[in-house]
Amino acid sequence: MATGFFWDEKCFWHAGGNYSFTLPIGGHVQPLAAGGLPENPETKRRLKNLIDVTGLSGALDMRQAPAATRTMLERVHPNSYLDAFKDMSDAGGGELGRRTPFAAGGYEIAALSAGLAVAAVDAVATGALDNAYALSRPPGHHCLPDFPNGFCLLANIAIAIEEAQSKGLAKRVVVLDWDVHHGNGTEAIYYDRDDVLTISLHQEGNYPLDTGAFADRGRGAGAGYNLNLPLPAGGGHTAYMHAMDTIVLPQIDAFAPDMIIVACGFDASAVDPLGRMLATAKTFRDMTGRVKDAAQRVCDGRLVLVHEGGYSEVYVPFCGHATLEALSGSDITAPDPLAQALEVRQPSPRFDAFLKAEIDRFAQDL
Ligand code: ZN
Repeated sequence: MATGFFWDEKCFWHAGGNYSFTLPIGGHVQPLAAGGLPENPETKRRLKNLIDVTGLSGALDMRQAPAATRTMLERVHPNSYLDAFKDMSDAGGGELGRRTPFAAGGYEIAALSAGLAVAAVDAVATGALDNAYALSRPPGHHCLPDFPNGFCLLANIAIAIEEAQSKGLAKRVVVLDWDVHHGNGTEAIYYDRDDVLTISLHQEGNYPLDTGAFADRGRGAGAGYNLNLPLPAGGGHTAYMHAMDTIVLPQIDAFAPDMIIVACGFDASAVDPLGRMLATAKTFRDMTGRVKDAAQRVCDGRLVLVHEGGYSEVYVPFCGHATLEALSGSDITAPDPLAQALEVRQPSPRFDAFLKAEIDRFAQDL
């Protein structure tokens, strides 16, 4: 028994379009000399490289996986979307939504990215692995059934949940999304359902701008089974831990799922270009440790982390390494080279007190 790590070099070959950062090239926007969209392969490939260099990958069960099948995709996405995506991919690529360009073969790579999540969930649900990490790319948590956005082309986690449920491997699932952006796709897919509790811990007013409010608690049978915790920009380690301890973990315990899946973005880090939070590698290590403990309490340890955002090419690997250390229990470490610099830049005690009060207000309103 071990911690699995699902990855595939082909996922790093997914290519975005003609962007400079998040802006389409043209007019006064000059092409970048290197790179295009912030969602580029480097953050993910460098995480894989770092665990190879430290030797942590030798302590993990390194696996690949087949692409998600059309049947799996159809449980979440309508045929009209899948057909349009496949046709454009076969024709050389393009853009079907908002900030989700893809190149030739993008459909197959996105299906492979979802397949990594499917295989990770399956292996943990069947007991073949204790827990697992899927280095999926492109990411999935923003993708709506029929509209790709925020670099996400297929709803990787939802596809994996539906497959596990169809095989009777899991009934009740918690999706904890700590990507700095709101998990609007996962929310939309499960908004009317009470068998999947969706929790999103994100920066208030980042992306998307029109979703992620605390008041959005679900609908119909799903009322009470969606929880958004929008944190003010500038929150750091203390705020994340307070949100985990006072709201997230009690909610997971009360729901008593068969499995916990984390939408694991690292863009809440203090140096991310697409976030304005102050989390550090230690924050991700400690959140992983806490959610692993919760999984031990409520679902025999069944825990899967699926990679989402995170756009600092230098720092994501260290955040990911710390996460994998906590997930696997390995003592092979990659010391955080920014630990001291980010420690002294954490919020002041006064701002931390304000953030804690905001979080406590959410807790009172639950
Ligand atoms: Zn994100």
